[in-house]
Amino acid sequence: METKTKIDLVALYKGKTKRSWQLFQESLKYLPGGDSHPNSRFFSPYPIFANRGVEGRLYDVDGNEYVDYWIGHGALFMGHCNPIVVEAVKKQLDTGIQLGTYSETEVELAKQALKMIKVFDKIRFCSTGTEATLSACRLARAYTGRKKIGKFERHYHGWHDAVLKGLSPPYEKAGSSGLVEDVVGNTIVLPWNDLDGCRKIIDEHKDELAAVILEPSPAVAVSPAEGFLQGLRELTTERNIVLIFDEVVTGFRYAPGGAQEYFGVTGDLATYAKVLGGGLPVGAVAGKDEIMGLMNDPTKPDQKDKSSFHAGTYSGNPISMTAGLAALRALEDGNLYRKANSYGQRLRDGMQEIINETGVEACVVGECSASSMLFMKNPPRKMSDVGAGTEAHKKLLLFRFALVTKGIYSRFSSRFYNSTAHSDADLSKTLGAIRETLRSLDSYEMRFDQAIPPAH
Ligand code: PMP
Repeated sequence: METKTKIDLVALYKGKTKRSWQLFQESLKYLPGGDSHPNSRFFSPYPIFANRGVEGRLYDVDGNEYVDYWIGHGALFMGHCNPIVVEAVKKQLDTGIQLGTYSETEVELAKQALKMIKVFDKIRFCSTGTEATLSACRLARAYTGRKKIGKFERHYHGWHDAVLKGLSPPYEKAGSSGLVEDVVGNTIVLPWNDLDGCRKIIDEHKDELAAVILEPSPAVAVSPAEGFLQGLRELTTERNIVLIFDEVVTGFRYAPGGAQEYFGVTGDLATYAKVLGGGLPVGAVAGKDEIMGLMNDPTKPDQKDKSSFHAGTYSGNPISMTAGLAALRALEDGNLYRKANSYGQRLRDGMQEIINETGVEACVVGECSASSMLFMKNPPRKMSDVGAGTEAHKKLLLFRFALVTKGIYSRFSSRFYNSTAHSDADLSKTLGAIRETLRSLDSYEMRFDQAIPPAH
């Protein structure tokens, strides 16, 4: 019987990324895991070290060029080095890097963001998505006087204690060592896309649940089922539970009003980061006056005991505020959304065409500028459909790694995030690489040696 020669993708990758390999070894001497956010940036056998980004492209230290669908953790919705943002930041650099006072730019960004979000009255800035969800959870507790937080299986909301659970099975286990049992016990994990399952669990804890937080369309590519977000809205409203839309990824990306506008469902609070800062470090919590009125506020001294504390040396820092303001003003009229969403749609259509043409068992999921191809017949509905260890997941890792060797960069377990700066040339390079990869998927393998253990 004829045995097909296998192509070792690891050998191919090693040949192209010699300097990254050297730097990786060097990095391990000084940084645990070689990086400050290795969970998102590492992939087997070792990650690339990038040193430049231009529009939709990323360059590594070996001179390889990639069409970039990670795009700075999804933050660079307007592409690498967008000139509008860069110019605004350059100007601000000359007038103040960190002023540490009230500032007009902060007021302007608040006004601009609220105008685009449409459904909320107030916003409070911080520097990261993690701080934003931390603040929103605390505020929900202050508002309701309850202590528990409901979150969904595999939804990620940053790395503070209350949300670091349920990231991978077994979902009841804490997502990190070093967490206090009481905190972990106050986080309740809910089943995604299963309204009856949610109702049952929520009712078991209803007098103690302060909030339910969710990624409106999770990075792991299990989009919300028809009616699910609306159903959750009703469930939480009836029980006076604060519904928090974590729009850290989707905010200002899916639409000016984010996923809430796109799906037509509004939370009581929403959290933002990434696109809001034009690619610089910004986070935010926004909501109606009734809840936001409980944020710590020195102009309301009689409310001091009831208020929820939120602070930060860099909260509202002028460089980030300026970058965010420039980005949102450029996005406001909607034209750039049409451009990014049309690219996303053409990417998804192209993927589907290639699936049809090659007969590979796969499906295309996603919306707006967040797309995925998954190795299963139908789009997943449950989180267990996309879990690590499944055949579908193994194929996904091989597929995404093969794409890296062909100059297409993405975070393997996340979506392809495109920017408003991705071009027709980027799209045709991407679809060419996907076609080539799907045609050869069965002949690819990854041979790991001991120096580079498999992990993801
Ligand atoms: N929420 C969501 C939905 C996220 O995707 C992330 C990070 N990607 C966070 C919160 C945490 O944001 P940060 O990394 O800025 O702390």
